[in-house]
Amino acid sequence: MKNIKIFFTGIFFLLFATVYALDEVYMNQNNLQNFLDDFISKVELKEEQLNRAVWILETTGSKDAASLVGSLSSELKILFSDKDIYEKLVSFDMREDLDHLLKRQIHILINAFKANMLPKELLEDISTKEASLNQMYANFRAKIDGKIYTENALRDILKEEKSVDLRKKAWDASKIVGVELAPKIVELVHLRNKAAKSLGYENYFDMMLDLSDINKTKLLKTFDDLRIKTDDSFKKVLLHVNETLSNEFDVSLEEIGPWAYKDPFCQMDPIETSKLNELFQDKDLLKISKSFYEQMGFSVDDLIDSSDLYERDGKNQHAFCISVNRKNDVRTLNNIKPNVQWMETLLHEFGHGVYYLETDEKLPWLLRDSPHVLTTEAIALLMGRQVYTKEFLRDFLDVKDEKIFNEVEKGLKRRQLFFSRSAFMITEFEAKMYDDPNQDLNTLWWDLYEKYYNSPRPENRDGKADWAAKYHVGLAPVYYYSYLLGEVFASTLQKQLLKIAKDDNIWKKEAAIFLKDKMFSHGSRYRWDRLIENVLDSPFSIDAWIEECSK
Ligand SMILES: [Zn+2]
Repeated sequence: MKNIKIFFTGIFFLLFATVYALDEVYMNQNNLQNFLDDFISKVELKEEQLNRAVWILETTGSKDAASLVGSLSSELKILFSDKDIYEKLVSFDMREDLDHLLKRQIHILINAFKANMLPKELLEDISTKEASLNQMYANFRAKIDGKIYTENALRDILKEEKSVDLRKKAWDASKIVGVELAPKIVELVHLRNKAAKSLGYENYFDMMLDLSDINKTKLLKTFDDLRIKTDDSFKKVLLHVNETLSNEFDVSLEEIGPWAYKDPFCQMDPIETSKLNELFQDKDLLKISKSFYEQMGFSVDDLIDSSDLYERDGKNQHAFCISVNRKNDVRTLNNIKPNVQWMETLLHEFGHGVYYLETDEKLPWLLRDSPHVLTTEAIALLMGRQVYTKEFLRDFLDVKDEKIFNEVEKGLKRRQLFFSRSAFMITEFEAKMYDDPNQDLNTLWWDLYEKYYNSPRPENRDGKADWAAKYHVGLAPVYYYSYLLGEVFASTLQKQLLKIAKDDNIWKKEAAIFLKDKMFSHGSRYRWDRLIENVLDSPFSIDAWIEECSK
């Protein structure tokens, strides 16, 4: 076409110029598509290899797999650090004539490239420091009276132990890791800030939000609203919790502190009933999960077959879900034990699983993922929290005891309130830490505790580094806010799905069809906030969560 054009003049030229312009766009879209296909196929291959290595590592703890994971993730990062490709993408992004799916792919790629557009030495320095921090964190063992405890063992003490003395020691021991890690984390914070500044951002916190399509001002305002609107409710619940615990441990109300709660960071329901656990003691959790999802019309047989479900030596002790190839190979890792937490966790991980599996396979590979971690977390949290509803206990465990029904629902509200305080606290802490890493971070941490938990800071914390004991602060930075946004969206979804199901529970085919059509199938076709609008027919709203936490 280019060669033909020069033979025309006058009116003919003008006419054909239009045709030419259109054709040029068409050609360019084609070229652009080829260019993307070529680049993305490399990413796709590398990501699948990495996922397979991660699976072997997490299910066996093999050293060979660990080294493979290290080298494959570097190779994946290197793909995203080619400046020429980045500049090409930026120039494509400025064009307004591209179709929506192309635009979305370019946007996602640019965000992925941006974080890697750094001097090689700086990238390597950050990776090395993160890897060593990770290792220190995984290998750290605290001691109480000379005896060594794992993190899980400390958590078990806080969950079950009646001795106040031992509880205080366990809480204290859970923070020792912080003192050891704090200097390393501060070094990393400086390096991350240096990286963010070189890309034109004020600091790393701002950069991470921007690259996840989150508006910082809006996020902080939303968190303020969530807190203000549930503060009265939280204060009432807190008083009830503290009174209950003061009776249970036979100490004065004033003496109750974080040591009395069920976990080191005051996130769980601090007075969860043990009766709930007893209900699951002789139950087949896998069978219940299968039946839950099948009632919704989701087939989870293949997901279960490819999952690694029970405890074993060398295996990761937590839980996760992974889509190996962004197609049908989706797996979960669990360590099922017959208690309420694992019931919740199984439903949670399978929730991620069905989300992945129901994503439209015809979408370009890059878009076969959720647009933000908060949307997939919302589904997983929504499914997991059903365990704490009376309808679930009635339908899947045949419970009829009104007292238990009453307790579980109050427990769910307490958990939302306590967890949200922790998410507010960590988010503001990160914002301020990246703004000024040289300040006294432990003072900041406990100032924020007083602000959000409406409780006095515990004594004798000077010179400690309690903030650094929270895994996410060092190693999953600027991520915590997503969990709370996920919870908030889950509450809105719950309300919507009950309406669609026309029943008192959401394990109905109509609810699942709605989720598939409006949400799962779209992958990353839309930005997270547009996807939510597509699901709700209205923008992201905090009302349903506020309502749940206030009643
Ligand atoms: Zn999750």
